[in-house]
Amino acid sequence: MNFSDFDFHESLMDGIRAMGFEKATPIQEQAIPTILSGKDIIGSAQTGTGKTAAFLLPIIQQIIGSEDHGEIKALVIVPTRELAVQIDQQMEGLSYFTGVSSIPVYGGSDGVTFANEKKALSEGADVVIGTPGRLIAHLNMKYVKVAALKYLILDEADRMLDMGFHDDIQKIISHLPEKRQNLLFSATMPPKIRELARKVLTEPEEINIAISKPAERVMQIAFVVYDNQKIPLVKHLLQAKGLNSVLVFCSTKASTKELARDLRQAKFSVEDIHSDLEQKSREEVLTKFRNRKLKILVATDILSRGIDIEDIDLVINYDVPNDGEDYIHRIGRTARAASKGVAFTFVNEKSQNQFAEIEELLGRPVDKAKNPSHIGPGPEYKPRKKGKKPRRNFKGGRSFKGSKGTKASKPRGGGRRK
Ligand code: AMP
Repeated sequence: MNFSDFDFHESLMDGIRAMGFEKATPIQEQAIPTILSGKDIIGSAQTGTGKTAAFLLPIIQQIIGSEDHGEIKALVIVPTRELAVQIDQQMEGLSYFTGVSSIPVYGGSDGVTFANEKKALSEGADVVIGTPGRLIAHLNMKYVKVAALKYLILDEADRMLDMGFHDDIQKIISHLPEKRQNLLFSATMPPKIRELARKVLTEPEEINIAISKPAERVMQIAFVVYDNQKIPLVKHLLQAKGLNSVLVFCSTKASTKELARDLRQAKFSVEDIHSDLEQKSREEVLTKFRNRKLKILVATDILSRGIDIEDIDLVINYDVPNDGEDYIHRIGRTARAASKGVAFTFVNEKSQNQFAEIEELLGRPVDKAKNPSHIGPGPEYKPRKKGKKPRRNFKGGRSFKGSKGTKASKPRGGGRRK
């Protein structure tokens, strides 16, 4: 489907052309007419499907003709600063010729940024894209012009709930006019998202684009390893020819820093990114990576969702992600748009069951590669079958239930900082 079929305003078509979009993606085909018709939407789509433009385009189109000058018309709530910045960049590109304004609003910056946000929010930027905490900080001060707001978008809603933002979202919504159009996007649809949708949306139309399935073009390979094989293996894989852009994901800040230090010592072009880093430094690192001035980025999975960096050659899961959703988001960083991607996952002994659960979610096993000979063979891949009781210690008769490494024993979500 061509964009000309949507009957968009000419100034918006100019932006679409300037962004190099030719044909609408499947989610755009489905969502744009529905949003233009005024209906609420619950959409499951991972990043890389074009979902950002799917909601931005019809909203810009409707704002172009709007009379309410100096009022906020659309609010996009997102889990992370990086996603706010990225959506704002697409917004800037698409709306460039339209005169529709936008501002990203996220925490962690200096007083000058806060003052600029305050100005934009009190003068009514057309589209506001923000993280929950920062939005509440502004809303509490009563100058945010939301009386004429018509559109509320919750993006990466599953991620927001994982990060503990449920109450903040409700609080923000309590400030908004009741009559508005609501769009909720989520990579996955667990029951807690359905519940949020019941509270926020009115008779939504449901749009599903490949729920919980990674991009088909990603070649996924797992290495079953002992912990002490991970560093030599990652160094070996990073030496492959033709790699320009590699993302390595670790589960914790500590392992992110440690791995980056080891790789730096081995003279790789590498930086690490996690929540200990100031926002400014995070953006600088991301810009360097985007501009190909930095080859390897080691990150906690705060980066695994929503961030749109094109043409990543390789994603390495240095640790198995906590759950399937994180895995899908991580490997979704590669094989964007037209490119093919590769994702390697290191599965240590402790995380075999966790990885088997991910394979179950994928609906198929991930191919296991043999370790390179100089690294030596890893352990056998022998995850516990689902539903099978945990092993017993026959001598003492004590159950291993709740032992380290099983999913049930791991703390999840709840606003963890990565
Ligand atoms: P998203 O899923 O919103 O993160 O978008 C992924 C990438 O696809 C972004 O770089 C967009 O600029 C790009 N994109 C979105 N829609 C289209 C389209 N119709 N044609 C080509 N690229 C697109």
